[in-house]
Amino acid sequence: MGATLRPHQTRILEQIDQAIADGRRRIMVQLPTGGGKTIIGAAIAGKTVDAGQRAIFTVPALSLVDQTVEKFYREGIYDVGVIQADHMLTNYARPIQVASVQTLQRRIIPRADRVMIDEAHRWYEFYADWMSRPEWADTPFIGLSATPWTRGLGRYFDTLIIGSTTNELIEAGFLSRFRVFAPSSPDLTGVRTLAGDYHEGDLSKAMDKSGLVADVVDTWKERGRGRPTLCFAVDRVHAKNLQQKFIAAGVVAEYIDAYTKASEREAIARRFHAGEVEVVCNVGCLTTGIDWNVCCIILARPTKSQMLFVQMIGRGLRTADGKDDCLILDHSDNHLRIGFVTDIQHDKLDDGRERQKQEAKPKEALPKKCPKCTFLKPPKTPNCPACGFKPQPKCDVVNKDGELVELRARAQQQPAEKAQFYRELRWIANNREYNSGWVAHKFKDKFGHWPNGLTYLAPLKPSIETLNWVRSKQIAYAKTRGASW
Ligand SMILES: [Zn+2]
Repeated sequence: MGATLRPHQTRILEQIDQAIADGRRRIMVQLPTGGGKTIIGAAIAGKTVDAGQRAIFTVPALSLVDQTVEKFYREGIYDVGVIQADHMLTNYARPIQVASVQTLQRRIIPRADRVMIDEAHRWYEFYADWMSRPEWADTPFIGLSATPWTRGLGRYFDTLIIGSTTNELIEAGFLSRFRVFAPSSPDLTGVRTLAGDYHEGDLSKAMDKSGLVADVVDTWKERGRGRPTLCFAVDRVHAKNLQQKFIAAGVVAEYIDAYTKASEREAIARRFHAGEVEVVCNVGCLTTGIDWNVCCIILARPTKSQMLFVQMIGRGLRTADGKDDCLILDHSDNHLRIGFVTDIQHDKLDDGRERQKQEAKPKEALPKKCPKCTFLKPPKTPNCPACGFKPQPKCDVVNKDGELVELRARAQQQPAEKAQFYRELRWIANNREYNSGWVAHKFKDKFGHWPNGLTYLAPLKPSIETLNWVRSKQIAYAKTRGASW
């Protein structure tokens, strides 16, 4: 064996053995990214070999085959063959066979005493078919995933082993701490939802606006510079535009997508780790199977999917020498929608019927944004842990559950209202690609003076009142010009 197993890893192996002894044959293991999923896989493989048996280890993409073999080697498992056309490691005599699902579904599958399905949240009908064949009925299938929450997985697996939670691994020092800032909020009005997540085309249009893209770059330069960074974008066009904007701002930025050649990807990884590449923009393809040393994550990809969200954040939570924490710059409102990754809990698999109940669950305890620095505070944390900002209690303010609720009459225009209005204007300007002069003029229009000293404030999603106010001004303006609408 390679690395000494950590206590939670030993526990997982014992639980798997126990489940098999109890007659379970379809076992899912949930373990956060960085929790040692491959080490578990290698340990199972090692035990299988020691028992004179055979195992198949499947991965959801051809590109993951070689790195899986490498990881097995690192764990001291050398008796590995690969099922793949023209692969130099093809050798059916070896007791451990690594294969992609794409290859396996076109082949006769060799006999095995254990099957491991890596990244099992990426589910294929082929797996269901394979598992249902009578000759495989008594063979233990062990799914491995950080996020086995795919709809219907509970129909194929009868046992869920929760290896450890993100929170426990952070507390134990096996995963990195993280801090989240939410510098801007996108306007997702009109973005349709398809199969549980945002429609990609709509989303791309909503996110690929020059104001938003510029804000991503500016925020990173201010807060993230010096940290090896992964930036998650909506689609290829969006990712490339972000990369170009970074480059234009003097940042060394690269771009990777599913079509990037393995050799090129490796070259980028090397330069990234040498500190020569500062930011790598990508389209979610870096959510699986990479273990780069990442110290900053930019979320420019709004999602409703807890799985995608957790997989993206997971890329930043590996520990490394000299790494204090991971900085997360969330331009997607994902945290405000879903919560912190450490708050996401699933204690059973989705059997295809529980979905509605899960979604209907009230989203309690979501983080709140610090109005001064945009740091995302855990719920019931009135003072900002990042900048120390204390909301000023006033006589016309009540404190409810640790959060300050403003009761003041709207007519009284206080500095806080001006700041909020300014931020809302900035948000509108970003999303509609108005210039900063528009913000200043609209602000003056309302308050009679220029917005001095407010320019450091981040955009904020506008209230209906503010949107209506802007609209009424535009209608009034149009009328003076004799426009017909
Ligand atoms: Zn703050």
